[in-house]
Amino acid sequence: MADDRAEVSNFEIVNHYFDLAADRLGVPEDIRAVLRSAYREVQVQIPVRLSDGKIHVYSGYRVQHNGARGPYKGGIRFHPEVDLDEVRALASLMTWKTAIAGIPFGGAKGGVNCPADELERSEVQAISRSFMDKIEKVLGPTRDIPAPDVNTNAQVMAWMMDEYGKLHGHTPAVVTGKPISLEGSYGREAATGRGLVYLYREAAPSLGLTPSETRVVVQGYGNVGSWAARIMQQLGCRLVAASDARGAIRHDGGIDADALAEHVAAGGRVAEFPGAEEISPEELLAVECEVFIPAALGGMIHAQNADLLNCRVIIEGANSPTTPRADEILTEKGVFIVPDVMANAGGVVVSYFEWAQNLQHFRWDEREVNDKLGTIMRRAYREVVARTKEDEGTSLRVAAYAMGIERVLEAARTRGYI
Ligand code: GLU
Repeated sequence: MADDRAEVSNFEIVNHYFDLAADRLGVPEDIRAVLRSAYREVQVQIPVRLSDGKIHVYSGYRVQHNGARGPYKGGIRFHPEVDLDEVRALASLMTWKTAIAGIPFGGAKGGVNCPADELERSEVQAISRSFMDKIEKVLGPTRDIPAPDVNTNAQVMAWMMDEYGKLHGHTPAVVTGKPISLEGSYGREAATGRGLVYLYREAAPSLGLTPSETRVVVQGYGNVGSWAARIMQQLGCRLVAASDARGAIRHDGGIDADALAEHVAAGGRVAEFPGAEEISPEELLAVECEVFIPAALGGMIHAQNADLLNCRVIIEGANSPTTPRADEILTEKGVFIVPDVMANAGGVVVSYFEWAQNLQHFRWDEREVNDKLGTIMRRAYREVVARTKEDEGTSLRVAAYAMGIERVLEAARTRGYI
């Protein structure tokens, strides 16, 4: 990568890390070409009449990257910046993520380039149903199983499941992250945030961190960021700053993570939360803390702002939040980075549990879900850390990617694909 800008794309970020790991493993160029490209890419037109009376045409994408280890799996995001390259990159990230977690899925991602946060509920429903209607042929519980991602949630999954069911009969296992009332799994909504906290707990002793002395900053107080903050708070950590796309706050004495989550769920902006000082997004990065959790969009920590960070650990809740140059700057500063591809796997791990429960028509209680999630997250972390010790000088990120790539290659070879 020649130069690093604030706008380094998810595509560049993910491909860069893939190459670092593939170099380390000595993966030959012909095999790399297979792993870089996707098995199937679907692009569809989504015309919807909005409340302004006009038809707006959005583009929808579903990219199935690699299915050597099992059915394709990955979320669907609704965001104006969604494009084919971004979805490709995020689909490949899912391939490595499921492999690192050791769950039997391949990788996929989907998205629609609509501004979901500005649309009415009925408009989001129309887009969700239309998108499902156009991609259903490549989906199914043994083919490809979507889930929520940026600006989508359990309600969107319910509409999509319902639309799929009109054609195929009731099929809960075709999407995960559904509402509890429609065969969703207990613990799924909080799972990505909870997974981050399990990794904090794993990493903390070797870094000399204890919860009562851990200050947390969360960039992006959405599903992932808010649940991570709430569960960290339950452990005894203190949330000292938080942001959403429209502003940021800090309060050194501690922000009540539950109250802030309620405020946001009720439609409030983070910056309007009472009792905290409003700060700029740059100031948020510079707030002194032990744990910084990026849980917004890709590329938000980049060459121009990485130096501002004032933390011991970064646990990546978002997908590809850190550009390659930022990763180098932070590593030089001695910041310990727990990478997205392992850190935020909690969501897809509990998606796996949801899918397994749906296939059995059986439900586990929340405790069982959380315990099993903890076991998988800890195992992945320990396996990746062990690799960094065997292969001295490798970061957790490169070790994690390398482990994922190896597992996918092993499955592909055993099937006779390569
Ligand atoms: N969208 C989440 C992710 O990026 C979850 C995907 C899933 O549950 O399939 O990992």
